[in-house]
Amino acid sequence: MNDYIIRATAANDSIRAFAITGKNMVEEARLMHETSPVVTAAMGRMLMAGAMMGVTLKGKDDVMTLQIQGEGPLKGITVTSYPDGFVKGFPLVNDVILPPKNGKLDVGGSIYPGFMRVIKDMGLKEPYVGTIELQTGEIAEDLTYYFATSEQIPSSVGLGVLVNKDCTVNCAGGFIIQVLPMCTDEILDKIEENLKNLPSVTNMLQDGMTPEDMLNKVFEGFDVDIMEKTETGFRCDCSKERVERSLASLNKKDKEEIIADGKPVEVRCQFCNKKYEFSIDEIKKLKN
Ligand code: ZN
Repeated sequence: MNDYIIRATAANDSIRAFAITGKNMVEEARLMHETSPVVTAAMGRMLMAGAMMGVTLKGKDDVMTLQIQGEGPLKGITVTSYPDGFVKGFPLVNDVILPPKNGKLDVGGSIYPGFMRVIKDMGLKEPYVGTIELQTGEIAEDLTYYFATSEQIPSSVGLGVLVNKDCTVNCAGGFIIQVLPMCTDEILDKIEENLKNLPSVTNMLQDGMTPEDMLNKVFEGFDVDIMEKTETGFRCDCSKERVERSLASLNKKDKEEIIADGKPVEVRCQFCNKKYEFSIDEIKKLKN
């Protein structure tokens, strides 16, 4: 199954919802960044959340950044998402090993305490920036809190990544449910009841459930309208020119040392780890 996102409305348009299956993108990110299981899970949750939030961007050139920064050993993750459903991202530390917590990967323990930040660049003078304090570091709870406090949208977020014993990704997926102003208390009570009884995302995926099935389960007893199905995945748009910009921060002394050294310089794209080589001639041509 390819990775995809669905957008839906439910209960007579009083709720909007997103659901994703993202096993391939999370596995791709794992291979690129050589992540340990707990980092794979944290990175995967961030990528899938970013992808679902990205498709809500309105302009085709809009870009969103979802970032966590914390005092835990993982230190932070940055994800950039685009309106077409594609994302890229990287962890600051890729090889964190922590003992499991309640039999699960301790994503919260790898990052908490800290902050989550959402930056939406919509081509305006100033980007929109929303920052919250991490509630648990488990990502889904933090996003729920972010939506409630920064965007004033009551939401429920579920995200899950299951990692196999050999460290590969078994399944990955999630959903975002958002309550619109016309939603009644009656509808809300019933959906809260459904959410309370909902199996974990990874249990649902392991049972073979699709994003459509997950939303049908969340909205059991209501009508669900699938509005759109969008392909999603990991995509880095780096190029030699873009990477060259990071070399522009070299000071004069560093540059002279590199030239004196006489060896080509290898620069890696932080988002996908692709290597770009710069010859001494190219380094000499940099305007710094
Ligand atoms: Zn790249």
